[in-house]
Formats: sequence, C-alpha cells, structure tokens
Amino acid sequence: MSEYKSPIWHPYTQHAIAPEAIHIDRAAGAYLFARGKDNSDNPEDAPENERCIIDGVSSWWVISHGHCHPDIVRAVQNQAAACDQVIFAGFTHEPAEELAEKLINITDDHLSNIFFSDSGSTAVEVALKMAIGFWEHTGAPRRKIIAFEGGYHGDTFGTMSVGGRSIYHKLYQPYMFDVEYIPFPEEGKESSCFDALEKILKDNQDDIAAFIFEPLLQGAGGMRIYSPDVLKTISDMCRAQGILLIADEVMTGFGRTGTMFACEQASLIPDLLCLSKGLTGGFLSLGATLCSGAIYKAFYHKDKSKMFFHSSSFMGNPISCAAANASLDIWEREPVLERTEQIAKSHADAACQLSKRSDINNIRQKGTMLAMDIIVDDAGYLSNIQSELYSSLLSQDVLLRPLGNSLYILPPYCSTGDDLDKIYCAINKTLNDVLHRV
Ligand SMILES: *Cc1c(COP(=O)(O)O)cnc(C)c1O
Repeated sequence: MSEYKSPIWHPYTQHAIAPEAIHIDRAAGAYLFARGKDNSDNPEDAPENERCIIDGVSSWWVISHGHCHPDIVRAVQNQAAACDQVIFAGFTHEPAEELAEKLINITDDHLSNIFFSDSGSTAVEVALKMAIGFWEHTGAPRRKIIAFEGGYHGDTFGTMSVGGRSIYHKLYQPYMFDVEYIPFPEEGKESSCFDALEKILKDNQDDIAAFIFEPLLQGAGGMRIYSPDVLKTISDMCRAQGILLIADEVMTGFGRTGTMFACEQASLIPDLLCLSKGLTGGFLSLGATLCSGAIYKAFYHKDKSKMFFHSSSFMGNPISCAAANASLDIWEREPVLERTEQIAKSHADAACQLSKRSDINNIRQKGTMLAMDIIVDDAGYLSNIQSELYSSLLSQDVLLRPLGNSLYILPPYCSTGDDLDKIYCAINKTLNDVLHRV
C-alpha cells in the first residue's frame, strides 16, 4: 500500500517538489510544537519527542503578542459559549460595537465609520469599492487608482489588480483592471517616483479616485522600506487633487513598524484604513475598513440604490470580535510597544553584526522587521536559494520563510532576547552551511 498523502492543496507551495507539511499540534508564545517522528497520532503519548519550532514570521505576519495568549483564549471561549455567529444586516452585537468604538478611538478622528469583513483581501476590496462609490455618488465619477510598483494587497482579483505585476499573479494579468503605477521610492531614487506621480496627476486631472499603499514597508513585495517623509510628500501631492488615500495596514498595523500604525510616523491621516492580520492578535480572521465621514455620507441617502452593496457572510463574527477586543485590551494593559522596541534594538545589534558578512547585502530594518538579501545570481521570488535557506533553518527548528533571496524576521512581540539570538545564530549557521559548501 502506498503511503498516505494528504489531499490538502497548500498556499504558495509547489507540491511536486515540496516536502510534506509539518504537522503542528499546539502553539504557545513564540513557539510551534510539532509531532516528533516516532510519535503516535496522539501527541500526549510522547511529549518528550515533541519538536519545538520558533515562529520567526509570526505565522505569516498575524500573531501579535504570541500564540494562544491566555486572555484571548478565555475571551474566545466565553464568547463561543454565548453567541457564535449572527447575521450582520439588521443585527448587531456587543463584541462588534465595542470593537468599533475601540478602533475609532485609537485611530485618527477623521476616520469615523467602520465596515467589518473577514480578511485582509476583503478589507482592501471594500476600501476600493468605497473609493469608487464615493466619487460616483458625489456626481463626479473618477475611474483610476494609483499604486506602487511591487505592492501587495491580497490575492483576489481586485486586490491583485492594485498589487504590483509580479510572478505571483502573472497568469491572471489579462483579467485585471488597469492601474497607474509609480516606482517604489527606494532610498536615493525618490525623485523618479515623484516625477512619475507628477506626470500621472497632470495627465489624469480629476480622474484619479484613490492612491493605495502599504505605509513605510512593502511586505510580500520583498520587505522593502521607505521613509515617512517620502510617504508624506506623495500623499500631499495626491491630496492636492482630492485623491482619496487608502492605507493598507493589513501587515504594518498593530505595532509591526514600531508604532501602533505605520501612518502615524508620517503624520498621515488616510481616508480609508484597511486592517486585518494583527487585528485579533492573529487569533482569528477578521477584516476592518475604517473610512472618513465624507465617504460614509456619500452612500447615506434615501435612495436605496446608493447603499453599499457588499457583504461577507462572517463579517463581524462575534468570536473574532471578542478576540480582537481581548487583543486590544492586552495592548492597553501590557507594555506591548516597549516589547516591540526591545525587538527593534536586538535587530539593530544583529544587523550590525550581519553587515560584516560579504555574502549578504541590503540589510534593512523597520521596527520589528529585519531583512537582508542573499547575494545570488538568480535574485527574485523563484531564486533557488529560497528552499535551501528554508530547509536549513527549519533543520535548526527556526521557521523563517524567505521571499526568494530576501531573508527576513518578523517575530511575535513576546519573543525574548534569547529567542531572537537563537534566530540570528541559525541565520549565521545557515549562511555558512548553504553558501560556503565546497
Ligand atoms: C496579507 C496582506 C493582505 C491580504 O490579507 P489576507 O488576510 O491574506 O487576505 C493585504 N494587504 C497586505 C499589505 C498584506 O500583507
């Protein structure tokens, strides 16, 4: 009999060559616990065989405080026993009302209304639909969207369209809508971005509905950073033509860049703010799109045809909202920003050490994110070095998932200095092993 092979199709995985998925039984803090090789199906049987893997990417950028924070576990248990799910048209519930108030209080006064959905992609889709609807309903339709080259906003067709045209979505390119791209404002090359934007603004007077961006840090596009001043300049140029600003803080939100939201560092107030990933502390999926009162008002009408035609079945799920409320309470009660500062300090020291290596370059850091590029001949997402780095790190029980030849760390905030040292050491060993094999 052939060996059992799971029917599950995993994301961003080439199953013809990928190793079997690692089976995780439990998670706590910065660690994932996997079944040991000789374990039976019941993990309780042989806990000493458990393999303990440090989660250096916060399980794809979602976990904020750490896995299974007891306060969030409790809030979810209590809510699950009280009310599981309720239709969100014509009905509401306390967890959603409480969360809405909390989010509106911790963001700028300009953002006065909130629409819940169920993921980062849907939060962005909603923002795009609101922006287009705003102009339509105010009687001056605008059709175009400006976006950065190399951006990532999700994997649905709308969000793929406003993302950079990369290998990720190449196959579907003919099905996407057109977007006006501006070059990523890399340090030292900002003027080409400003010039391109100026030209677009001149050529498309009164036809640009919105500018969408990942503030300060492009995630899936390769962990690329740019300065708050540059973001401020670009957004001021857009604002001068009334263009709506859509901040996609799905990844940067909730402390990743060292402040609650990345926009704060640029003193930038968006018209639409997209949140997900860290919204529930990474515990459950939930999306939120906050918008200005002006946008809400554009749809507010006795005419039914002007309502916002969008829903997600599980939008504002009570259990997800309870997780988000518990996570935000942790932000209030525990020194979360101080933890992110500690991580940033450790990263800065590690960057200093790593910069002595001749096999990496472009070491960069923003808040809790530290990234570097491995010098290879086939740079890019499909670089052959990716799987070698990944396997070598995993063999040391460190989970990092390089984006091609870019290696990065984005740890949960509970990670201690020792946890981080373990990751830095594993990186050094991996670079020695993988790059200097003879
Ligand atoms: C992950 C991500 C998304 C998509 O979120 P999903 O929950 O995976 O749909 C959108 N924007 C950014 C910036 C992201 O990092």
